[in-house]
Amino acid sequence: MLHTAHGDVETPFVGIAGTPGDSNGVSPAELAALGTRVLTTSTYQLLVRPGVDIVRQHGGLHQWLVWDGPLLADNGRSLPPTARLLRVDNDGLTFASHIDGSRFRLTPESCIAAHEALGADIGLALDPPDADRDAERTERWAKRSLEARTRSDQALFVVVSTSAMARTLGGLPFDGLALHVNSNGNAISACVPEHWPRYWQGGAGLTELFDGIQQGADQLDWTDATRLAHVGQLYTPDGLLDITLEPSSDDSGPIQAGCGCSACTTGFARRYVRHLFAANELLGPTLASMHNLWFVQAVLESVRKAIRVDALADFRASFMNRYGSA
Ligand SMILES: [Zn+2]
Repeated sequence: MLHTAHGDVETPFVGIAGTPGDSNGVSPAELAALGTRVLTTSTYQLLVRPGVDIVRQHGGLHQWLVWDGPLLADNGRSLPPTARLLRVDNDGLTFASHIDGSRFRLTPESCIAAHEALGADIGLALDPPDADRDAERTERWAKRSLEARTRSDQALFVVVSTSAMARTLGGLPFDGLALHVNSNGNAISACVPEHWPRYWQGGAGLTELFDGIQQGADQLDWTDATRLAHVGQLYTPDGLLDITLEPSSDDSGPIQAGCGCSACTTGFARRYVRHLFAANELLGPTLASMHNLWFVQAVLESVRKAIRVDALADFRASFMNRYGSA
């Protein structure tokens, strides 16, 4: 169980991208109805547009997004492809905005200030891009992040890329660990306090999800869910369905029989959703996102059940056997 100022969340869970700019085309109220418990937000996106001050004046990120559940804000290091990291120095980072190329700075202190102004429940501390090669700077930035905190109602997770750094940073008073799915998660995780929640960042889909959970991840990403939905690729227990293709069988029923998502339960037929994609109608990707996001939460619900009876490996094997390789 993860405890936050905006409620407890059963683990493991998947956070859903909630920042406009990382759009999934689904409203927060609908996301909640689909079983989403935690939104993850991009500090970079919020800094560049609309600006943290606008969000703070509006009462914070929960009011801005109209979301009253837990929110995580990243450390600003996740950039859209057209944004550029211009410079790394001892004090911080200099970026060029993807919108107009304008420059802005991010330091360990300004990252914490942004989290506090936004009112995120969990923040990730800023780490240097060369963290694995510059242990001294990484440790210094971690300590500066801790010293910059003025609020006690927010959790601060430290981003760790190697087990050597984990041994050092695991001794500091952070509240949790964040690591990239491609790093040596087991080794890193073994070097930080047992009670820290573990956030496996950057997972695309099922393989990273199962791998992360089997290594003890509490929180994960599943970025494929909306990326695939936007091009008409829909999850089903029997594998991906390409809704844009002519069907080989009757398609007057819902996207997936038995699915509990509001696209399937309100009566939208598979052939109607295909028509929406053919007509470039915005509702198509929205319904597809709703379906895929429901699938994500349904898988996680089954995963949590399997963990409770110590049967995760068996569940993974039978699930992937039906789904096909991923
Ligand atoms: Zn559905």
